[in-house]
Amino acid sequence: MNYIPVIGLEIHAELKTKSKMFCSCLNDPDETRPNINVCPVCLGHPGTLPTANEEAVKSILRFGAAIGGVIARKSHFDRKSYFYPDLPKGYQISQYNEPLVSSGMVAGVAVRRVHLEEDTGTLGHDERITSSGASERVSLVNFNRAGVPLMEIVTEPSIRTAAQALEFAKELRVILRYLRVSDADMEKGQMRVEVNISVRREDTEEMGTKVEIKNINSFKAAADAVLYEIKRQTEIIGKGEKVIQETRGWNEARRATVSQRTKESAHDYRYFPEPDLIPLVFSAEYIDEIKSTLPELPKEKRARFIKEFKLSESQAKELADEISLADFFEQAASELANKTTAPDFQLLFNYLSTDFKGILKSEKKEINELKVPPEHFAHLILLLQQKISSRMAKDLLLKMHDSGEDPETILNQEGLEFMDDDDALLRVVHKVLEENGSAVSDYKKGQSNALQFLVGRAMAETKGQGSPQKLRALFEKHIGN
Ligand code: ADP
Ligand code: MG
Ligand code: ZN
Repeated sequence: MNYIPVIGLEIHAELKTKSKMFCSCLNDPDETRPNINVCPVCLGHPGTLPTANEEAVKSILRFGAAIGGVIARKSHFDRKSYFYPDLPKGYQISQYNEPLVSSGMVAGVAVRRVHLEEDTGTLGHDERITSSGASERVSLVNFNRAGVPLMEIVTEPSIRTAAQALEFAKELRVILRYLRVSDADMEKGQMRVEVNISVRREDTEEMGTKVEIKNINSFKAAADAVLYEIKRQTEIIGKGEKVIQETRGWNEARRATVSQRTKESAHDYRYFPEPDLIPLVFSAEYIDEIKSTLPELPKEKRARFIKEFKLSESQAKELADEISLADFFEQAASELANKTTAPDFQLLFNYLSTDFKGILKSEKKEINELKVPPEHFAHLILLLQQKISSRMAKDLLLKMHDSGEDPETILNQEGLEFMDDDDALLRVVHKVLEENGSAVSDYKKGQSNALQFLVGRAMAETKGQGSPQKLRALFEKHIGN
């Protein structure tokens, strides 16, 4: 018997608004001092009144529009009651039956709803020495995060594999970053993924009992948890036993999900409409305005890059997944197109994806912190297209990064030599042809890598100063004549 995994995701993303959801405290995820950004409203003092943050509401509507969702014309907030020390009011302001957005699609996965709520505070656990010298364990609460706007997105249970779940979560992160509504960094807890998962027999449509997995703090952990849980549940059902409905946590050290609490009956959160906030009503103009001010979305950028620059699907994805990289590529590409009628965008992509990214990685820097602007990078690619070898280009890039100078200036300053003289290159080509008769005949028999070998020999002969593009062309011209 085959078993089909059934997976639905619930993802929370912290919005990066200036202030919190229902008060004017700063929303500053980088604040390290505890209980600095707090006020009577977000501390839940009796008698205080919340006011909804319009920027946060707009962020959700923008997201809804970006995923092709249905945006509510009318919505409201509800109270979700439960007790926990990080929740000062004893209830969370959330949304129950009128979410801001229903339906939508991300990476081919159907989204059920998107709503807005407030985040909780955070707990820290510590040990301290009492006055009598004994040690005791204490829990400390920090309300800086309490009341920070939080987007919750819930998918339909239509995901079937770990890879699909991962693709959804990654695409979600890219969209949030494009819209600038959240930085969605999982390691920082700005995006939190919960996986709901069950398996069912292939011969029935009926869904099995689901397990909810929490404590996932990286994309890799999400995929690992899904794979682990599919295996665990399949084995249980295969033995004729029953999966119990429970919440499990991903334990990175054990590389396993472990039971946290069993949910015999569903929680009763006693949802009811928040009486201290007015309902939200959006005019058609308001929604149209939001739709018409969306930026280019990742999907659109990928398609455009494939069309404009003849990039492959995966190349376009690599660029578009990181908006700063995509912008840099695009600016450099337009500079390159200004400099030559035959811009080699593949070459531009290759150098950006390998050498340039290599510098970013080793320096742990963002693109705009480097001293290499797109114009200089485009100029480097032009030189590479016309006269310098790839070895020189790699060297030059490092020097450009050190000095912030244009590549041509560095070449002139350093008197760096490159062999640009066609006659000299031709002499090298003839010499290599004479000395490598067997490679020549291999090439004539159709072994195209023999040409690569000959170019390599010629590069060695010029001590890396010849242009491989030119050498290749000369070989192609002179073999066989
Ligand atoms: P709950 O009331 O327990 O929160 P919901 O129906 O609201 O359950 O669904 C929560 C999430 O669990 C959604 O992402 C949904 O797609 C997913 N889900 C629901 N039922 C199942 C199931 N049987 N197996 C896997 N995922 C499921
Ligand atoms: Mg739920
Ligand atoms: Zn506050």
